[in-house]
Amino acid sequence: MKRTFALAIVFVWCLAAPVSLFAWGDDGHNAIWEVAQSRLTPAAKAAVDKILAGDKPELTAVWMDRARDAARGKGGDLEKDAEAEAFNAKFKYNASWHYVDLPLGADSYEAAPDFHPYDSVVTMIRETMAVLEGQSQRLDQRTALRVIVHLIGDIHQPLHCASGFYDITDLQHPVLHKDVASCLPLDKSKCGDQGGNLIFFGPGTYDQLHAYWDIDAVKRVTLLQKPAEAVRKHLEAVDASTPGHMHDWPLRWAGESVKLAARAYEGIQFGACTPNTDPKKSGKISRIEIKLPDGYDDRSKVITSDQLAKAAIRLADVLNAILK
Ligand SMILES: [Zn+2]
Repeated sequence: MKRTFALAIVFVWCLAAPVSLFAWGDDGHNAIWEVAQSRLTPAAKAAVDKILAGDKPELTAVWMDRARDAARGKGGDLEKDAEAEAFNAKFKYNASWHYVDLPLGADSYEAAPDFHPYDSVVTMIRETMAVLEGQSQRLDQRTALRVIVHLIGDIHQPLHCASGFYDITDLQHPVLHKDVASCLPLDKSKCGDQGGNLIFFGPGTYDQLHAYWDIDAVKRVTLLQKPAEAVRKHLEAVDASTPGHMHDWPLRWAGESVKLAARAYEGIQFGACTPNTDPKKSGKISRIEIKLPDGYDDRSKVITSDQLAKAAIRLADVLNAILK
């Protein structure tokens, strides 16, 4: 698809849904959840229905994004929602649950232990597994289900598991570092791009590499189909099996994603860096200009097709294993 056409679709989508631009986007999350539900066993389906009884089904997969929007004063479906307010009050830093910023050169989650925060997309998927198994009470069952549905989506978006780290000594020529050891001091001095949120391929607000992977890449996969249909058609094309114990699967999935993120940064040219001067924003970088290489849209489409399908299969596998 021509890039201008893709951007036109994205633009229309953004007008329709101006919030929640920091995860797969509604289309990706809802498609993953819709396909996963169709793969649930009767027992798991009954358990899910019981846990979510009385809830708005259209919000399950995006509840975490909406709750965060409400916390940030952006309004939305959960503005003044008592449950979301209680969630945000109890878990002040739930925005960090959506990702883990591993260096691009990490070839596994375990290869970068200094980059593992206490709560991240990896730890919180494990935690919600434990809650649904009755082994943890950190969250209630309904919140845990919403969280795991959302985060198994997020962990499959490559840029939710990685970040670029830069030497910005020369602001005109920021240097991307990848290997874990050289990224650590850059992380400590807050010279990361926050999962591609601070690198821009154009002047628009949503011309961030992160938003491209959340939304533009998903639109390129689904085109004019219903997103869930596009995901369903691709299920047979992927091997979604994960070795080892279920509670270790999120580590494996993050390891896959960081390797895909390295591919997402391949061939990008980095231009000038604008340093951050806003004390309300964290980090030393405000933005870095980038140029995407030729063929980038085709590359992102292949990766995103696979990741959406894997997320749907794996989400169903986890719920089927727990909710027997
Ligand atoms: Zn998210």
